[in-house]
Amino acid sequence: MRNYSPEDLVRWDKEHFWHPFTQMKVYREEDNLIFERGEGVYLYDIHGNKYIDAVSSLWCNVHGHNHPKLNRAVEEQLKKVAHTTTLGSSNVPAILLAKKLTEIAPEGLTKVFYSEDGAEAVEIALKMAYHYWRNKGEDKRTFITLSEAYHGDTIGAVSVGGIDLFHGTYRDLLFETIRLPSPYLYCKQEHGGLSQTCLADLIIRLQELLRARRDVVAVVLESGIQAAAGMLPYPKGFMKEVRELTRRYEVLMIVDEVATGFGRTGSMFYCQQEGITPDFMCLGKGITGGYLPLAATLTTNRVFEAFLGEFGDAKHFYHGHTYTGNNLAAAVSLANLELFEEEKTLERLKPKIELLTRRLEEFWELKHVGDVRQLGFMAGIELVKDRESREPFPYGERTGFKVAHKCREKGVFLRPLGDVMVLMMPLVIREEEINYVIDTLKWAISEL
Ligand SMILES: *Cc1c(COP(=O)(O)O)cnc(C)c1O
Repeated sequence: MRNYSPEDLVRWDKEHFWHPFTQMKVYREEDNLIFERGEGVYLYDIHGNKYIDAVSSLWCNVHGHNHPKLNRAVEEQLKKVAHTTTLGSSNVPAILLAKKLTEIAPEGLTKVFYSEDGAEAVEIALKMAYHYWRNKGEDKRTFITLSEAYHGDTIGAVSVGGIDLFHGTYRDLLFETIRLPSPYLYCKQEHGGLSQTCLADLIIRLQELLRARRDVVAVVLESGIQAAAGMLPYPKGFMKEVRELTRRYEVLMIVDEVATGFGRTGSMFYCQQEGITPDFMCLGKGITGGYLPLAATLTTNRVFEAFLGEFGDAKHFYHGHTYTGNNLAAAVSLANLELFEEEKTLERLKPKIELLTRRLEEFWELKHVGDVRQLGFMAGIELVKDRESREPFPYGERTGFKVAHKCREKGVFLRPLGDVMVLMMPLVIREEEINYVIDTLKWAISEL
């Protein structure tokens, strides 16, 4: 039945498919991976080559590809119905999932609003937070954000983002925010590391802001680590302090767990390590185990109740998408969460995080490694031209991509963030496979 060859696919890909975050001129000149199937932590391309998926297909795969239980969940739901609207009606898996999510989330997050991608989960939190104050009769319009933040690529999410390379072009289209420095960079530059004094300093800055302004809707931040900026962790306790201040000054707190949720940092959600409940928690990526696009914005009774009224009061949240609460995605997400319990995924992750920590130490031996950063099972290895001066490689040289390319030769699939090599392996990866990925990456960097 096959009426195309691998060569056709390569040609048609370059002719018709405009890829995300990709310089297509360069892409079209290069050999690219075209994946055809997956099995556990392995991906196979159209030529039959096999690769370890060391970035979890952009940070979303959890239990491996082609998992029998997840496949079955999709198949069984498919036999019933693929999609029904949730605008004013409901469906079985989306109800069960909403209940389940509120059970595993930090205490107090009792309401679930669905969407399809992480950016939308953030967009919804921003609109809901803003609308919350309107419904309360208060005219607040300012968001406090962090530099180096990444919350997705829609206009609202970009407005609260802080990565100039991605976001600078669109500045005129964005709403303004008050931006505090990225905790990691600030701590490193001003205090030489993630110290308690640095933490105290940052908190004073936030407190002064909150004391001075009465128009703040919310503080928006990623949970635990600024992943897209190149894996920049916060000092421990930072989010807890932010929670206390936002409580004290009656400002909402929006926490983006899109990258960190579903086990990536060692607990189901990173908020739980800080012992906090934000007003909004945004989820995406791992929510379906990497199977289908689904995202969720969780919030509290307090926020929810501000939207209640008679129809004519027009207080309700005028927002929704065609596929909000999609049946197939919700069904596979439920199975994903069941797998966490059945396979004790988080318990079994602990020794793997320890192994990763131990092995990451070895990267300091390499002369082109300028920094090594980790939070749980997420890691970033920053490449620099010169270790002493921390001079980076020139941007156009694509050093990170070159290293990733080299890893491909030995069957490891990586996607770097600039010159930061990212390790974000599926949680089910085995110890010998972790070792293989690390050995390969070390080798590729040492070849520079
Ligand atoms: C990936 C990511 C997003 C955006 O999610 P999409 O599904 O790509 O829209 C938002 N926030 C964080 C922290 C992310 O890592």
